[in-house]
Amino acid sequence: MNATEVSVCVKCRLCEARTHTVFGEGDPDAQIFFIGEGPGENEDLQGRPFVGRAGQLLDKMIAAMGLERKQVFIANIVKCRPPGNRVPAPDEVATCTPYLVRQIEIIRPKVIVTLGLPAAKYMLGTSQTMGRLRGQWQQWRGTKLMPTFHPAYLLRSYTEENRKMVWSDLKAVMKELGLPSR
Ligand code: URA
Ligand code: SF4
Repeated sequence: MNATEVSVCVKCRLCEARTHTVFGEGDPDAQIFFIGEGPGENEDLQGRPFVGRAGQLLDKMIAAMGLERKQVFIANIVKCRPPGNRVPAPDEVATCTPYLVRQIEIIRPKVIVTLGLPAAKYMLGTSQTMGRLRGQWQQWRGTKLMPTFHPAYLLRSYTEENRKMVWSDLKAVMKELGLPSR
């Protein structure tokens, strides 16, 4: 499985309106695997994950952890943009996620960080709220998983409290990986 194979995928209806598939990118040996919801407009145009406003905030979050973007891996639960940025439908998620699962199996990260509820819901099969899930270590097939808020949510609700919660979640990840605290 590689980006070229996914680029011609027509397994679900999200292929119809896409400009580019967004395979995901980063270090094939990454210790951290970030999972977002799905490509937005900028991602669809460029074929790269998290390159718009939310992506700029994700970049800042990664930098705050003392890492560079190229040291982590970033992907989404669906690889084609849902029209109007709607939440991906359950059948679309079910059809596309074998690609994501394969990526996680190949990279074998030490920690998975889900960004926002759709990613946490898919990975954990839970119906809990983001407020309850975030900040608590979970497991995905034996790999530690930390759910946190989506950077796009943070941008919409840029409060001291929300920023503190995300930073606390990221600090827990840094501690788990033995990264120097900052
Ligand atoms: N939001 C996401 O969930 N993923 C992206 O790649 C960009 C924005
Ligand atoms: Fe294929 Fe996934 Fe795109 Fe659907 S969203 S067409 S399954 S790559």
